[in-house]
Amino acid sequence: MTESAGARPMDAERLLAIDAAHVWHPYTSTTDRDPVYPVRGASGCEIELMDGRRLVDGMSSWWCAIHGYNHPVLNAAATEQLGRMAHVMFGGLTHAPAVELVERLVRLTPEPLQHVFLCDSGSVSVEVAMKMALQYHQAAGRHERVRFLTVRSGYHGDTFDAMSVCDPVTGMHGLFERVLPKQVFAAAPAPPFGSPCTDADIAELAGLMQRHERELAAVILEPIVQGAGGMRFYAADYLARVRQLCDRHGLLLILDEIATGFGRTGRLFACEHAGIAPDIMTLGKALTGGYLTAAATLATAEVADTISAGTPGAFMHGPTFMGNPLACAIANASIDLLLSRDWQGEIAPIETRLRAGLAPCRELPGVADVRVLGAIGVVEMTAPVPMRAVQRRFVERGVWVRPFGRLIYLMPPYVISGAQLEQLCTATRQVVVELANGELTDA
Ligand SMILES: *Cc1c(COP(=O)(O)O)cnc(C)c1O
Repeated sequence: MTESAGARPMDAERLLAIDAAHVWHPYTSTTDRDPVYPVRGASGCEIELMDGRRLVDGMSSWWCAIHGYNHPVLNAAATEQLGRMAHVMFGGLTHAPAVELVERLVRLTPEPLQHVFLCDSGSVSVEVAMKMALQYHQAAGRHERVRFLTVRSGYHGDTFDAMSVCDPVTGMHGLFERVLPKQVFAAAPAPPFGSPCTDADIAELAGLMQRHERELAAVILEPIVQGAGGMRFYAADYLARVRQLCDRHGLLLILDEIATGFGRTGRLFACEHAGIAPDIMTLGKALTGGYLTAAATLATAEVADTISAGTPGAFMHGPTFMGNPLACAIANASIDLLLSRDWQGEIAPIETRLRAGLAPCRELPGVADVRVLGAIGVVEMTAPVPMRAVQRRFVERGVWVRPFGRLIYLMPPYVISGAQLEQLCTATRQVVVELANGELTDA
C-alpha cells in the first residue's frame, strides 16, 4: 500500500465491502451477514456514523464507556503515558501505572482482597480466578476439589472454563459438550432485588453444595446482576447466604464484577449491596473507562499465601500484555475521574428516569417484564426480538441500542443528559409498540 492510499480515509462503501469479505464480527455468520454500521467517531454520549448521523449511546459499548467517548481526561492520560512507554513485559519489571492501579483496586474493593493479578480481558480474568481456586485447593492437598458450582442464567465469558460456568442453554454448552468441563448448576436466583431470600429460595443451591462438597472448589457468581445471561437482578440476601454457605462447606466464593464493577448498580461494586466480600473477584469492562482491554483478578491473602506455599510455589499464569502501562494509566485516570465526581448523584437520576421512561412498556402486549437497577434498564419480551429490524429502527430513531434474545436493554454512560436519556426511552417504547403491532420482522 502506498503512503497516500494508507493516509486517505476509506469511504464507507469500500469499508463495508472489505468488512463483508473479510471481517468476522461477534457471534456472526460470514455467509448470512448481520448488517454493520460504519462509525467515524464518538464523543460524549454520541456515536457518529460515517454518513453523518449521530446516535445517542444506550450501550456504553457493552458496559465499558462509563464516562462517554473521547473524554479529554482519559485522552490526556493515554497521550502522556504514550510519551513514556506503551508497554513493557511484566515478568521481572514493574512500573508506576500498574502499581498505582493495584493500589487503587485494593483500596476500593472489600478489605480482604489484597493481591491483584492484572490480565488482558474479562474472560481471561475469569480463567485466572478459576485457576486460582483450583491451585488453592491443590496446594492444601484437596486434590478432588476441581469442580465449580454456579447458577443458571449466568455469563462469565467465552473462553472454555468461563463458558463452562455460563448458562448451559445460552452458553453454548450443547455445541462444545465433549470438551467443556461439567460444572454443577442450581436454578437462577429466584428472589428479585429488593426482596428477602427465604430458606426455600436457597434450598437447591444449599443441597447441591452439601451433596458435592468434596469435589467443589468454589462458587462463581455475578453479584446481584446477571448480565449477558439474562439481565436479571436478584436479592442481596441471596448473595449473603451464598457467602455463609461457602464458609460452612470450605468453598471459595468468586464474584465476577466485570459488568457490575465501577458503579453500574448504584454501588461501586455490587457485592456491597449484600455487605459481603468474595475470596476472589474479577474486574474488567469499565476498568479503563472503555478505552482499552484490561482486567484484574483480586484475591485474599489467604488464597494467595496458600497457593504460594504449595507446589509449584507460584501462581501459574502470565499473559504477554499483563499490566499494560497504557491501559493501566487510563484505568487510573478513569477511576479518579469517577471518584472525583458525585457518581452516585449521576446514577440515581438515571435510575429514576429509566423507571419512568420504561414503565409504560409494561402495559404493552409482548412484554414479559420491565426492570431497572442503577444505570441498567431492561424490557424483557415474551419472544426473541427480530434483531436486524429492531437495530435498524433504533438507528433510524437516532439511538444506539442493541438487543439480544428477548431483551431490549439500556445501560448508558453515566454522563448522559436527561434529554438524551429521554430519547433512548422514547425510542425503546416506540420499538416495543411496533413489535406489538407486528411491524418489525427480520425478512
Ligand atoms: C463481559 C463479561 C465477561 C467477559 O469479558 P470479556 O472482556 O468480554 O472477555 C465476563 N463476565 C461478565 C460478568 C461479563 O459481563
